Amino acid sequence: QPGLHVVATPIGNLQDITLRALTTLAAADLIVCEDTRVTSRLTNHYGISAQLLAYNDHNAPRVRPQILERLTSGQGVALVSDAGTPMVSDPGFKLVREAIEADIPVFAAPGPSAALAALAVAGLPTDRFFFEGFLPNKDGARANRLAELKTIPATLIFYESGPRLADSLAAMATALGDRAATVARELTKAYETVYRGTLVSLATDFAIADEPKGEIVVVVGPPVEEKASADDIEASLAAALETLSVKDAAAA
Ligand code: SAM
Repeated sequence: QPGLHVVATPIGNLQDITLRALTTLAAADLIVCEDTRVTSRLTNHYGISAQLLAYNDHNAPRVRPQILERLTSGQGVALVSDAGTPMVSDPGFKLVREAIEADIPVFAAPGPSAALAALAVAGLPTDRFFFEGFLPNKDGARANRLAELKTIPATLIFYESGPRLADSLAAMATALGDRAATVARELTKAYETVYRGTLVSLATDFAIADEPKGEIVVVVGPPVEEKASADDIEASLAAALETLSVKDAAAA
């Protein structure tokens, strides 16, 4: 089908691909991916022989016009990333925007994303959640970003890496307070491990543990209602009731 198809691919387990993703990829005139070596593992596994073209931060300005040309000429182009859903901490946004500007239809073939997989197993509130993705690398910039997130009344989702994890958890505990948190590692893969605790307990555990290997999502619960404010409410309620009973007594 002509148009740009945004196709989600597995985040580890190759079985996590939808039937529609497979038919869309097989029918595409071109598959645009981050790294042809990574995507060819998937296409070879499923016997898909469509042409692959690398599209990443380095070559995007040069390659994007070529892709748009093929879309304008009526071809079907599939956009995938190395893993999960394109554009979720991955390239593709400008391509989609320019396709829309050129009146090219854009379709989603939805599927896995590490953010939602981690939320699904975290055991933390899901009614509101905020996706932050990767925090900045530098300490100061990371602290500033965490300060911005502190008051958001929602569960927070971060992408992390093994080498940064212990430091990031400590920075989160300092900036956000000791909230409930979950570290989800290697989801859907052989060494999948989920650690549940609080920011302080997890920061302490990972500070002394070996550096965790593989891919990691950190999910942090929403701000806890300050106990002091609950006490304040109770105190003003008690004071109000006291005033009422004094008035009642005076009226009687
Ligand atoms: N587009 C992808 C998605 O929809 O999830 C995310 C791409 S981002 C460049 C890669 C990051 O996603 C990793 O550093 C890790 O934080 C997270 N991630 C990807 N696969 C994962 C997995 N199987 N288990 C845990 N985290 C994963």
